Amino acid sequence: MKCVKNIFLTVCLVIVAFSSSNAQIVPVSDSVINPFQVVITGDAAFHYFVEDTVKYTYEMIEEDIYYFQKHWPQYVTVKTIGKSEFGLPLTSFRISNGKPKSNAVFYVGNIHAREDFSSKMVMKFANVFLLSLDGLSNIYPNAKSLLNEVDLHFLPVANPDGLKIAHEQFVGIEDSVKIWMDSIYCLETFAEWKANARGIDLNSSFDDGNWLVKRGGAFQDCRASEGFKGNFPAEPKETKAIQTFVDSLKPLTTVSFHTKGNVLFWADNKTHAWFNGIDTEMATEVEKETELRAGSVAKNPSDYGCGLENYVRNRFAGIGVCVELSDGGGGRKQHPDNQFNSQVWMKAWRIPMIYLENTIEHQEQLRTIQQLMQKSIQTN
Ligand SMILES: [Zn+2]
Repeated sequence: MKCVKNIFLTVCLVIVAFSSSNAQIVPVSDSVINPFQVVITGDAAFHYFVEDTVKYTYEMIEEDIYYFQKHWPQYVTVKTIGKSEFGLPLTSFRISNGKPKSNAVFYVGNIHAREDFSSKMVMKFANVFLLSLDGLSNIYPNAKSLLNEVDLHFLPVANPDGLKIAHEQFVGIEDSVKIWMDSIYCLETFAEWKANARGIDLNSSFDDGNWLVKRGGAFQDCRASEGFKGNFPAEPKETKAIQTFVDSLKPLTTVSFHTKGNVLFWADNKTHAWFNGIDTEMATEVEKETELRAGSVAKNPSDYGCGLENYVRNRFAGIGVCVELSDGGGGRKQHPDNQFNSQVWMKAWRIPMIYLENTIEHQEQLRTIQQLMQKSIQTN
């Protein structure tokens, strides 16, 4: 941690030094690019949008995504990839330096409703990466050169209805909630809601080939706030939309953020050998540079199956990782909003870059692996 803190203190000084002396000084609340509550001045302050310390609602996230596009039109393209069960847009965006490239990395947040730190992580990384592209932050000094190699795609809220339910913020979905909520078994309160709005756990619903055997987690055999895998593979609209998106994009790496345990779920027995150690290299680097540990290679598809990370591995041999941010205390209860920087950002700010840098380093090999595996995957 000491090392990380030193890096951040350096970053603070760089950011202050970068600021124009003529720029209007804008004090920013609590913490901005760094968690040390340093007052950032100049353009960086005008271009940092993500709220670090309060509840980050679906509407705020949507607004910030469009701010990204407005402030960085040369880099950011917004795309709606589908709609939720209650009709909310699944809003993704791409950061690129020109026409779409064939190689991509995909970052996803909030597949699980209550795990709202994951959306904040995706958005904060995107915002700081954009600041770094413009030289307004020095946190990711190589951002510009990395963008010559691949595109970055983001889906900060994979489960918009679920996020609104967990926040008990029902504006816009009141009628649908009235129809559906009474028929779904709620294990605790809305704040601990994990599923989508129709009571299906999205990360148990992907059509990765393991759906029939899947029984892991807090398994439920009816619609519930968590643990129900649905009545058939990819039943939820959200899951279908995400599958269609990744099938078409075929990202070399998909990083899906969750929020309990400070651990990576990065490999499974069936697909691990396909990646020639590249997945191990990535997980090992995360372990070295952060406080997160890499879990063991998952053995039993009834436990690990049907997550997004499993889908991308099994269906087109992409690297897929589930990153559990923050410590595991409190069971279903999430950490308070104002702990985001201490629980998540300070530990995990390098993780998206580790996956990006390693993907670029191995991009030829990863593309070849996808092409080689395509045939055997299709015949299975
Ligand atoms: Zn989760």
